[in-house]
Amino acid sequence: MATVQPPRHKHIVLTSHPGNFGQDSIEIKWGEADPNERGPIIATLGNRAHRNVIGTHSGGYAVYRALAVASGSLERDHRADLTNTAPTVSIGPHASWTVPDKIISLDPFGALDQELFSDLRAEGYDIRPSIAITKAHINIPELQEAVNQGRIHVDGKILKDGGELLVTKAAIEPAWHLPGIAKRFSVKESDLRRTLFEQTGGMFPELVTRPDLQVFLPPIGGHTVYILGDLEAITDPDRPLAVRIHDECNGSDVFGSDICTCRPYLVHGIEVALETAQAGGAGVIIYARKEGRALGEVTKFLVYNARKRQEGGDRADTYFTRTECVAGVQDMRFQELMPDVMHWLGITRIDQFVSMSNLKYDAVTQSGIEIVERISIPEGLIPADAQVEMKAKKAAGYYTEGDVPDETVLTQTIGRQYEDA
Ligand SMILES: [Zn+2]
Repeated sequence: MATVQPPRHKHIVLTSHPGNFGQDSIEIKWGEADPNERGPIIATLGNRAHRNVIGTHSGGYAVYRALAVASGSLERDHRADLTNTAPTVSIGPHASWTVPDKIISLDPFGALDQELFSDLRAEGYDIRPSIAITKAHINIPELQEAVNQGRIHVDGKILKDGGELLVTKAAIEPAWHLPGIAKRFSVKESDLRRTLFEQTGGMFPELVTRPDLQVFLPPIGGHTVYILGDLEAITDPDRPLAVRIHDECNGSDVFGSDICTCRPYLVHGIEVALETAQAGGAGVIIYARKEGRALGEVTKFLVYNARKRQEGGDRADTYFTRTECVAGVQDMRFQELMPDVMHWLGITRIDQFVSMSNLKYDAVTQSGIEIVERISIPEGLIPADAQVEMKAKKAAGYYTEGDVPDETVLTQTIGRQYEDA
């Protein structure tokens, strides 16, 4: 049991007055090519005068940190010891980092590459990475099966004997440049700030009181990038690149639920990425923490019940309507922000885009990245119960090489019923 310590601060210091918060801060000039000109993101809670952003590091996990401090298991002013935490590979800088408004939802310099801002850190500025890059061996059982069936081969370098896949992976926390976000969604920045303030229950007053602070670290999940093959191939126009952008679906990705195609499609994406890497190119899997179309898992499970219990059963023709009944919208993933990760990687052309989503395709191509070929999920990988989702999505405009299901097909595509419904 942790010992509870008395709070050290006698009074609460509000963040809405420039006199304290950000008094000695370094200005952020978003989009500047030279990182020292651009300035570091400083979200420290130790020295408030140094802060130059709204919010704090670690996304939603900041709440657990608060609990750790409140319960006495973490020092309020703990400073991260970053010895040996530097990236295993260097990513960027790429030309896309400085094209105005190209990257507005993450900090391209967030990996603190090559001793970035070390002078300022030596001066006492608590500058933390928002991106971490490491290496891993991953093991996907389905890939072993693909080896056994002769679809892919062990090369001993990227795919080892025994099914180990060697990857470079990067975890990225979001950092929103509010003027850029407002511009991308064609809304007024003041309206965006006010709505963010209100819809988080007033969590970040500076959104409305401190228009001078333009960067917000939102309490949401970010992205994880898995890179297969040679990193250099990602930006080399003479070498092929395969990309799958996958939105989190814990039920299928981890637990193998058969109501959707998420895990089978993710694994297919990894297989395509591996083949491309083995052919001298690179494969990139981007995993976005946007559970249940960014509606959350509670909403998702409520929708499952609504779908399965409706009159006439779980049908493709009412697939989107049931989500809309519960959530008010079909989807809140806002793919408009997603290409930022690709621009951080310096991607300008994708030879094989492993996704059928028209929203993703439009977002990627409209952001200036060329897509050469779209790869659907092979029919044989679609679980029977997931045909409801697949047919509904194809009818709604998702990419397919086959027929677009008509109204009759949609009403006749019925999923599994609850036995005790
Ligand atoms: Zn799913």
